[in-house]
Amino acid sequence: MTPGGASEDALRSLFQEIILDHYRRPRNRGELADADATVHMNNPTCGDEVTVGLQKVGDTVTELRFGGHGCSISQASASMMTVLARGRDTVEIHRLHDLFKSMLHGGEGPPDPALGDARALAGVARFPTRVRCALLPWNALENALAQAAGEDG
Ligand code: ZN
Repeated sequence: MTPGGASEDALRSLFQEIILDHYRRPRNRGELADADATVHMNNPTCGDEVTVGLQKVGDTVTELRFGGHGCSISQASASMMTVLARGRDTVEIHRLHDLFKSMLHGGEGPPDPALGDARALAGVARFPTRVRCALLPWNALENALAQAAGEDG
């Protein structure tokens, strides 16, 4: 990593662009028919709402969709989350969620490459009230996984 001025500005504007791209052209947005679990959550401090629906085969999330509205951070984070979690098993998803949380809580060093586009949200760590916006879709996903697991038993 090159320290300092110009490259940091360039990185920041690249991250802005990735966030806006997910906000304007969300991936995996829509309702999921025949979802194994659907969870709606909101973030009253910002007014964000996110609904996450998923289908599982065995332990793997085979389909994942989100809906909702709110600030660009919450909606872009939801879009990024669906891209990361789709096709993964619950162990991998928990690991990604942990990496994402530690990034948002200002973890040391650059974000883990495994986080893909979600690395663009690293700057949110400097705004504690917005951390909730970014985590909302992941919390909804965890609740949906718990709900789906409950129905297996
Ligand atoms: Zn928000």
